[in-house]
Amino acid sequence: MKLLLATNNAHKAREIREILGGSVSELMTMREAGIELDVVEDGETFRENALKKAVETLAVAGDRFDAVLADDSGLCVDALNGAPGVYSARFSGEAHNDAANNRKLIALLENVPDENRTARFCCCVALARKSKPPIIVQGEVDGTILHEAHGCNGFGYDPYFYYAPFHKSFAELSEEEKNSVSHRKRALMLLREALDAENRNHF
Ligand code: IMP
Repeated sequence: MKLLLATNNAHKAREIREILGGSVSELMTMREAGIELDVVEDGETFRENALKKAVETLAVAGDRFDAVLADDSGLCVDALNGAPGVYSARFSGEAHNDAANNRKLIALLENVPDENRTARFCCCVALARKSKPPIIVQGEVDGTILHEAHGCNGFGYDPYFYYAPFHKSFAELSEEEKNSVSHRKRALMLLREALDAENRNHF
């Protein structure tokens, strides 16, 4: 399977290569394939956005690739009824301003006690294929939202996301530690399992 990744994010591409490398014959990012396309992420769920990105990218690149993998991810906070959710990147109004997004998140949770600060990172991965139905899977990792930032690794909401099994925030983890438990890793593992199961049934 010749697979196009609907991303130019080097971290994501590396993680996807590590997990899916053995299940595909060729794997390229949009930049490597020389394809420029900005799919509007206007869905109401991670699933809608990931599938839309994968399907629209396959429509453009389908003569060169068998499949396109796209993902959409974000933070869902229980006390905020699942917000910021699909609006995670632009929660404060300005796209990809992590500091402003975190300020808004912490202000909204100011009076929320520790026991109600539960949250999860979610990642939906969609694989759109030319000759088979799509595969769509979702991975999640549970945590709680801290009152203050801890650590400087990672990105986005990582400094405020406390992961109890490691007794650390996500921003205090090394990249390897985070990737071993992340929502993205869990979604990619589910995708690999689905592909492996298909291949087993095929033979
Ligand atoms: P995307 O799906 O990778 O574009 O992520 C959307 C937004 O969700 C990012 O801009 C971050 O604000 C947030 N997000 C997704 N994954 C993570 C993560 O692993 N750590 C921190 N923030 C994340």
